[in-house]
Amino acid sequence: MTDASQRDPSGRLADRTRSLERSKIRVMFGLAEEARRESDRELVRLEVGEPDFGTPDHVIDAAAEAAREGATSYTENAGIPPLREAISETMARESGVEYAPEQVTVKSGAMEALSLSMMALAGPGDEVVVPTPAWPNYVNQVQLAGATPVTVPLSAESGFDLDPERVAAEIGDETAAVILTSPSNPTGRVYDEDAVAEVVEVAAAHDAYVVADEVYGRLTYDRDFRGVASYVDTPENVITVDSCSKTYAMTGWRLGWLAGPQSVVDAVTSIGESTTACPSSVSQQAALAALTGPQEPVDEMKAAFEERRDFVVERVAEMPTVSCPRPEGAFYAFLDVSDLPGGSFEVAKRLLSERGVVTAPGDGFGDAGEGYLRISFANGLDRIEEGLDRIERFVRDES
Ligand code: PLP
Repeated sequence: MTDASQRDPSGRLADRTRSLERSKIRVMFGLAEEARRESDRELVRLEVGEPDFGTPDHVIDAAAEAAREGATSYTENAGIPPLREAISETMARESGVEYAPEQVTVKSGAMEALSLSMMALAGPGDEVVVPTPAWPNYVNQVQLAGATPVTVPLSAESGFDLDPERVAAEIGDETAAVILTSPSNPTGRVYDEDAVAEVVEVAAAHDAYVVADEVYGRLTYDRDFRGVASYVDTPENVITVDSCSKTYAMTGWRLGWLAGPQSVVDAVTSIGESTTACPSSVSQQAALAALTGPQEPVDEMKAAFEERRDFVVERVAEMPTVSCPRPEGAFYAFLDVSDLPGGSFEVAKRLLSERGVVTAPGDGFGDAGEGYLRISFANGLDRIEEGLDRIERFVRDES
C-alpha cells in the first residue's frame, strides 16, 4: 500500500495521489532523523542533495535591501524583466545557449519549471521518456500531469552515459518529451554530446521535445559544459531548465527558470498563473544579484567540490569490491555496492543503523540504480573522510 492510501482509508483523495512513490532520499532522511532522536551516535549525512555552502553575502544583502525598498509585491508571471535579461545573458555566456529574454520564464525553482513543463507538454495518452538512473521527481511529475513515464535503464558498463539507441527505441509518436539531465543526479555523468544530439534528432523527428535539466551545468570538473540547445541541429526542440539552487548555493530561495520555444514558455507561464503566479519577488532580486554580481563564489565552491570529488574517487578505488564511475559534474558519487548482501535499500539502512552513515539507495533513482548508493560530496572533507571510513569498515567486515 502506498503512503497515500494509508492516509486515506475512505478513498476520498484523487487517484493521482496513489501513484506517487515516496522518494527514497526522503525516506532515508526520515530514518536518519529518527535515529538522531533515539541515539547519541553522531551521524554522517551523505544523503543530502544541496551545497554545504551558504548563499554568497552580496546576494543576501541585495535581497534584503530590495525588500526594504519595496520589492515585496507580486511580479509579472514570467518574472521581472531585468532578471529575464540577466538569465538570457548568463545562459549565453556560461553554456552557449541563445534565448531572448522573452523566451525565459522564471519559476519557483527548477522543480516548478519542470513540473509545469510536464503539464504543458504531456497529458493522458502521452509518454515521457526518462533515462535512468535519474532524479526521482521526474516520474512523479509526469504522472501528476496524467502522462506515462517510460524509464530507460542506462548501462553501468558505460558509467551510465546516455545510450542513444536504447533511448531512441522508446521514442515514438506517443512521446511528448524526453528528459535529459546532464550533469546527472545521481551519477555525476556528463552525457556525450553526440549521443545527446542523436536523441534530440530522433525526438524532433517525432515532434517531441527534449527537456534539458541543466541545474548542475556550472558544476563540471573535467571539461567545460555546453548546454544542449547550443550544439544540436534543432534547438527549437529543446527546452532548457536551470536554477540558482546548486550554482549559487540558493536551494531555499526557490528560484529557477525555463527557456525554450515561445509557445512552450507562454504555456508554462500561463499554467503557472494557477500554481504560484510568480516566483518570490525577494528571491528574484537575490537571483538578479547572483547572476550579475561577482562569480568568484561559484568558482570557489566548484574548486572545493572538485577537490572532494578527487578525494572520493581515490578512496573508493581503495575499497574492496566497491567502485564508482568518476563523477564529471554535480556533487554525487554513485557507488556500486552490488557485491554486498541485500539490495541498495537494505545496505543503506544497515549503514545507517550499524555505522551511522546516511546514504541514498540507488534503486530510488530507478531500477537501473539497484546495487548502488549515492553519496553527496557537498560536505566538508573531514565529514566525507569520516563517512568513507565508516563505509570502508562496513565493506571490509562484510567481504
Ligand atoms: N533537477 C535535478 C536533477 C535536481 O537534482 C534538483 C534538486 O535536487 C532539481 C532539479 C530541483 O532544483 P531546484 O532547487 O531548482 O528546484
